Amino acid sequence: MNFNWSFHSPDTTICSICGKDALGTFSINLGERDYDYFKCSGCGTIFQNFTDPDGTVGGYKIGYDQNDSHLKFYVEIGYGIGSLIEPLVMVFAEPKGRLLDIGCGFGIVVDLWEKIVNFPSHGIEVASYGYAGKELLNTNISHKIIDASSHEFFGKFDVVYSSEVIEHVGDGLSFAKNVSNCLTNDGVLIITTPNAEKITNANSDQVNLALASPGAHHVLYSPESLRAVILSAGLRFVSIIEDNQRLICIASNKEIPIINKAPADRVKQLVFDYLNILAHSNHEWVKGGALYRLYRECVNFGEYDEAHNYSQHLDSLIGWRDFKTILHQIESGKELIKKIPCFYGPYYYYKGIMALNYYHDAASALSCFIRAHEHCMAWKEYLPQFAQEHTELIELISYHTKLSLKLTIEEVSSQIGRLAGDISI
Ligand SMILES: [Zn+2]
Repeated sequence: MNFNWSFHSPDTTICSICGKDALGTFSINLGERDYDYFKCSGCGTIFQNFTDPDGTVGGYKIGYDQNDSHLKFYVEIGYGIGSLIEPLVMVFAEPKGRLLDIGCGFGIVVDLWEKIVNFPSHGIEVASYGYAGKELLNTNISHKIIDASSHEFFGKFDVVYSSEVIEHVGDGLSFAKNVSNCLTNDGVLIITTPNAEKITNANSDQVNLALASPGAHHVLYSPESLRAVILSAGLRFVSIIEDNQRLICIASNKEIPIINKAPADRVKQLVFDYLNILAHSNHEWVKGGALYRLYRECVNFGEYDEAHNYSQHLDSLIGWRDFKTILHQIESGKELIKKIPCFYGPYYYYKGIMALNYYHDAASALSCFIRAHEHCMAWKEYLPQFAQEHTELIELISYHTKLSLKLTIEEVSSQIGRLAGDISI
């Protein structure tokens, strides 16, 4: 993978949002081909060259593959519930009303809304994840494309939510109109999308690649262009919030008070309540992914008694397999995802932290960190495009390996000292 920041197209093209000229701004080479991106000189929208015949959004599928390695990754470690529900908590102190999730993917928000918020919800998804979520979560998902008549088919909703979808759509203006049509008079539209302004040559290639997602993302909106698109759909009040690398748009025909930062304790409560439901799933990926996330959060919050409880459940789910030997036999990224839980390396990092901070057992911590390091490095090598969580931990794992090694040596030395003292007596 290679970013070319000096890409200059001999042609200019026209921005579909504001009509001004867009110039070639960067190009990404992914081995087989180049993806060329243009940036609007007026509103800052970044988009792929639409004349590119291969630059289409990933296709629509019927059903899903029960061995899909991407799906396994997503369910076990990929999705982040906090970032999915934060925009909802920014609008509602207590979430309520009928919710429509457009492009709901696996259906986490649809399912959480129904099971935790206790209001009706409906998801729309044409990709295979929609079929998977409908079956694995047993939630309410339809496999349709949103269009101008969707509001007649699905009815009107108090909340229309669409997270990380509009960037996949070539015609954002029509999409915004179609989703707005599904709102009740006082309904609230919530849209999130990557922020075009966050793609810069100051970032690592990995961060830029995730934002651009060549072949998947068609249009990257700036705060200005997202506002323009939503206003063009006829909604009167539009707020755009910059949240790390994404934009959150909250729009309605009535003025609504918005909290610019979702209260962390409220988000945490919803996340924990929901994950505790998923932790009772009969499906190993769903259950394991929920238990790992609960464990990770408890360790991060220093709630070690609860963490211990989740760890016991997780170990009884996965702990009987010899993943050390399996890892040494792995020869491809696909095999790695298939044969080992995707959270395995990170899980052992948090187990090491707990061994250090809770059990005060440096030798056990050392063995956890060594295992975590081996697995996270394998992910970085075989699956760099999926290894964000693994890669971010590698430096921390190295630091804690050295720390626990030092503590282990000190402990052994003091034992030898005591032993030598006993012998001299
Ligand atoms: Zn423009």
